[in-house]
Amino acid sequence: MNVRALRIALLSSVATSLVAFVAAGQEAAARPRKVMKSDAEWRKQLTPQQYAVTRQADTEPAGSGKLLHNKAKGLYECIGCDTPLFSSKTKFESGTGWPSFYAPFDKSNVETSTDHKLGYARTEVICNTCGAHLGHVFEDGPAPTGLRFCMNSAALKFAKEGTARPAEKKAAEKDQPTPKN
Ligand SMILES: [Zn+2]
Repeated sequence: MNVRALRIALLSSVATSLVAFVAAGQEAAARPRKVMKSDAEWRKQLTPQQYAVTRQADTEPAGSGKLLHNKAKGLYECIGCDTPLFSSKTKFESGTGWPSFYAPFDKSNVETSTDHKLGYARTEVICNTCGAHLGHVFEDGPAPTGLRFCMNSAALKFAKEGTARPAEKKAAEKDQPTPKN
């Protein structure tokens, strides 16, 4: 093999692994989800910032999120599909400028994938139901998990404890015994 052929072989192998690498990164975001909407539908439903964060993996400026210092009891749900993602019980002050949790509400409600956007590997956190980008998870959190789920306020909405969501309300109505005459 001459030098030129070797160079071409080398280049094409680099290109192939690069394509595989990029494809792996996009796979998580592009995977079929329970809640799937067109780009136009997401743009209509979400504010420009919510869209940029959840659909384009943008990060809100540190210290800017409206849920950053929220101390009320309740559930943090996905802004895109209402799936409960985090409980106030696991929220802590990380000092980073983003709402932080040490565990997800239910592990199966979130998915993680590796993201190299800043030139080094970070673990991206995605809503498993609608594929929304939520933030990242780092291994410098408090006990008992040692994890720090660093979330964007813009990807979340807060449901205060005691305020029944439509689905729960319906279930409660169904459970009520039929009055006997
Ligand atoms: Zn979602």
